[in-house]
Amino acid sequence: MKKCLLCGQYFISKMSILNLFSLHQKDRKSICDHCLKKFIHVPEKHCPICSGSSKQNQICSDCVNWQEIYGEKLLINHSVYLYNRAFHDLMVNYKRYGDYILYAALQELCFKELSEFKADVYVPVPTSPEHIAKRQFDTITALYGSLVPLTNMLGKKAGLGAQGEKNRAERLTSEQSFFVKENFTINFQKCTVLLLDDIYTTGRTLYHARDALAKIFPNAKISSFTLCR
Ligand SMILES: [Zn+2]
Ligand SMILES: [Zn+2]
Repeated sequence: MKKCLLCGQYFISKMSILNLFSLHQKDRKSICDHCLKKFIHVPEKHCPICSGSSKQNQICSDCVNWQEIYGEKLLINHSVYLYNRAFHDLMVNYKRYGDYILYAALQELCFKELSEFKADVYVPVPTSPEHIAKRQFDTITALYGSLVPLTNMLGKKAGLGAQGEKNRAERLTSEQSFFVKENFTINFQKCTVLLLDDIYTTGRTLYHARDALAKIFPNAKISSFTLCR
């Protein structure tokens, strides 16, 4: 019997033949089937650029707006789930209330999909220094750190406030707050880089992160991965 990290109910983890040979997968079962059903995968038909909703597989209105700024240089983003009530509640507990153990539930929700994206370098989108101090942990590093090797090459300026506390217009107009740390002199020029974040909301944060990297490594192939869109 296992205790579900989300609802606290005890449940029996069903094991398939595949699970039997994969210790990792077996260990990661921390959400009961009832809770798992509340998370909705990005549907088959979605925006080919950002994974956002699009009934006809056409480019979504958010990406059309980004096209006006970036032209052809749009950021390809892969998201696993749609941002719904279940995700909202989970993220509030994880981020606002600093419930560290929920990283295991988040990992369970995305480790399979993440393993399908092979990159040379995995770069977490940094949390502001104030938030790390408040929660005592970096939410993105805790989530992805044991799934893929992370290269913490991006820094975030202090004192600019969190995107999560802003409305849509404020998010879209927020200034660049990321920079590449100076000690990263390794040549990432021709690498494939996967930026990692939790939620793709307007795309502003991930475009800023991409821009900061692309300025220093203009030939790197940069895309992004987030839990939700
Ligand atoms: Zn549950
Ligand atoms: Zn889109």
